[in-house]
Order: sequence, then C-alpha cells, then structure tokens
Amino acid sequence: MDGKGIKFQAFDEIDKPSLDLIKDCVHCGFCLSACPTYLQTGNELESPRGRIYLMKSAVEGKIPMGDGLVKHLDLCLGCLACEPACPSGVRYGSLIEAARSQIERRFERPFLERLYRSLLFSIFPHPKRLKLLLPFLFLYQATGVRRLLNNLGVLPNRLAHAEGMLPDIRFSSLFSSLPSVTPARGKRRFRVAMLTGCVQSILFPQTNEATVRVLAENGCEVVIPRNQGCCGALSIHSGRLSEGRDFARANIDVFTKYDVDAVIVNSAGCGSSMKEYGELLKNDASYAGLGKKLSTKTKDIMEFLADVGLQGDLKELKCRVTYQDACHIAHGQRIKVHPRKVIKQIPGIEFVELPESDLCCGSAGIYNMIQPEMSEGLLERKISNLKETGVEYLVAGNPGCLLQIQKGIKQCGLNIKTAHLIELLDWAYRGTISR
Ligand code: SF4
Ligand code: SF4
Repeated sequence: MDGKGIKFQAFDEIDKPSLDLIKDCVHCGFCLSACPTYLQTGNELESPRGRIYLMKSAVEGKIPMGDGLVKHLDLCLGCLACEPACPSGVRYGSLIEAARSQIERRFERPFLERLYRSLLFSIFPHPKRLKLLLPFLFLYQATGVRRLLNNLGVLPNRLAHAEGMLPDIRFSSLFSSLPSVTPARGKRRFRVAMLTGCVQSILFPQTNEATVRVLAENGCEVVIPRNQGCCGALSIHSGRLSEGRDFARANIDVFTKYDVDAVIVNSAGCGSSMKEYGELLKNDASYAGLGKKLSTKTKDIMEFLADVGLQGDLKELKCRVTYQDACHIAHGQRIKVHPRKVIKQIPGIEFVELPESDLCCGSAGIYNMIQPEMSEGLLERKISNLKETGVEYLVAGNPGCLLQIQKGIKQCGLNIKTAHLIELLDWAYRGTISR
C-alpha cells in the first residue's frame, strides 16, 4: 500500500509513458473527431484526450492498475489518427505503446484471454509456422469443412470473427516462393531489399510477386534476404516491447548486411514500425545507430515509386477504383499523396475518393480478433461509405485492411473486389487484370 492508499501502483519505471510527452497535451479536443472509438461511443474515455488523462493519472500514481484503466486503453485501435489531428504534436503512439507494455507486464488478464492472446502471438509473427498451417487451411476450405462449420454456427464468437477474415487459399500459394535476387529490367537504377512480411508472404504471395515485378520494371534489382523474420510490428503495437525489440534486432542484423538504396515494405504496420526502430532501440548502445540507419532506408512501396517516378509502359485498365488509407500508412507514415499519385497515372482508371478513407476499418493488427464488437461497428461504417462510391475495386496498401474489408463486402453481398494497390499497378504493366 503506498501513501495515496492505492494498493498497486499502475505503472513501474520500465517503459513508462513519459510525463513530458503527456504534458504536451493541452486538452483542446481537436483530436476527438478524428478518433474512431470516440466517434463510435461518444465516450470521452474512449478518446485520445481521455486516454491521455488516464495515462497521466496512472503515471502520477492516482489510479491503480485494473479493469477501469485497462478497458479504455485496450479499446484504442492504435490507428494514430489522433497524431496528425493534434496541433500540439502529441506523440500519442509512443504513449499508448508504453502504457500497453505496462498492462502486458502488470495486469493479469483472465485465463482464457491470456491463452487466446498467447495463441495469436505464437502464430502470426512466425511465417514458418503460418506456412505449416497453410495446407490445413487449404484443405479446410477445399473439402467444405469451412462451409459446414459456418452453416452450423458452432464456432465461438471471436473465433468465428477471425475465421470470417480468412482469404481463399489457392493451391499455388502452397508452393509460392520468390527468388533471392531479381534483376532490374533494362538499365539498373537502384538496388533494393524487400521485407516480405509474415501474413503477406503466406496469405498474399501474389502481392509480393507483384511488388517484385513492378520494382524490376522500374529499374530495381530486388534482393530478398532469406533469413528475414517478423519486423516486430504486432508485438510493438500490442505492448510486447521486449519481444518486439528482439524481432527488430534480428531484422536489423539481416537487412544491414545488404548494401541497398532502400528497404521496401508493402504492409502498413511493418513499414511504420521499421521507421521507428531508431526510437524503439534508443537505449540499446549496440543497435540504436543501426536501427536509425535501417529506419531511414525503409520506404513504403508507393512512397518509393512515386518519389523515384514510374517508368515503363502502363497500359489502359478500364475500371472504377477507390482507395482505403491504411492507418499506419496515412497516419503512422503520413503518406497520403503518393498512392493517389500512382493510381492517377494508370491510364483508363476512374478514381473515386472513398468518404472517410482515412478512418480505421477496424482491422488494426490483431484488434479485430480481440475487440470484435468495436471492429464490426467500424467495418459497418466503412462498408456503408464504400457503397456510396459505386466502384468495382477497392485498393489499399495493407493486407489487414484488405482482409477486413473483404469480409464486410462478403457479408453484404456487394460486387466489389479488393486488391493491394501494387497489384493494380502490376496489372497495368501487364495490360490485364489477372489474379
Ligand atoms: S488534439 Fe492534442 S493537445 Fe488537443 S486534446 Fe488531443 S492530444 Fe491533447
Ligand atoms: S490511436 Fe486511434 S483509436 Fe486510439 S486514441 Fe488515437 S485516434 Fe483514437
């Protein structure tokens, strides 16, 4: 028991949210209308300002670690929409990651909840394990077991939600692999390395294949380090900072061996995390400098292509397309112009802006698997905005958003297809829409 009558101090000194950063918040409330959870609930404690107030109270030892604190911080998507909306430059992302690391270490969740989270973290950041699961997922879909279970409705709510996002696994995905080095087409302009991503490499191999083809078309020699692993994004965003730092160090060891002009990333959360390696490892004398170096070389694929300028012959694609701003591209990396610039260069495309395109779709890493109600609410809002566009295609720069939105499209029986934006560009180079 401490002097203030609180039995358990909410936070200890390890990765504690910085009071200096907290004090940057002047309580103006400009961030409220950007926050998806506040828009859904209207509850101040589900807003950035409310959550910062809770963190401040916890740092000052005024409230204990417990459900009252945890439920509001858990419900945050980590979408970072509050950061660009804030005139005081509050670094909310750093605060919520630090607060979540306190929760992970100091709050005992119910047994089943712990088990469920451990299961998610023992699979998703491990592409080799995901790959082992792939043949079973293929059979599960191909043999009709999936249809049977869905018709019977026997899966528990959370599992049913996660299952609903599973994309169709193609037979070819079981054998997909990319060459270690792909030469540039024509004169070499750049040498780049590519992060293949955990979920991306297993569930969306066609996206990585398209990325390599488009980079080669644009004069890049593409290197794919074989022993690369998870970038740590899922762990870092969930407050598992120690695990996330281990993933980051391993990734730094792999990528800094290559003398390349850029490290290309085609999923939002991974790019956003890798750009923060310098900050994440600032207290690690051996890795701080290397982390910073890798961060500066990391580029989202659309950021890279728009900056270096597209080359080659783009053929006409006649279709109506809209674009979803993935949170960790639009807010985390502040990239909104580049993807639109690329889309508008494809001949024949009719581009339609998606209303609220930068409002989170409810995917947010593993959020949709641990907070299904809020996630569903946001997905409904996204789909209702999507219906207004009358498009044939929705493109985005992140696999999580595509899985989530695809699920909503299927639930509503809409005739809209989804694809990664790099696939759309690849189709334009090849002159055909082919999946
Ligand atoms: S906009 Fe920034 S300063 Fe204003 S309440 Fe939100 S976080 Fe605080
Ligand atoms: S990260 Fe997103 S959900 Fe969390 S407080 Fe900021 S805007 Fe709201």
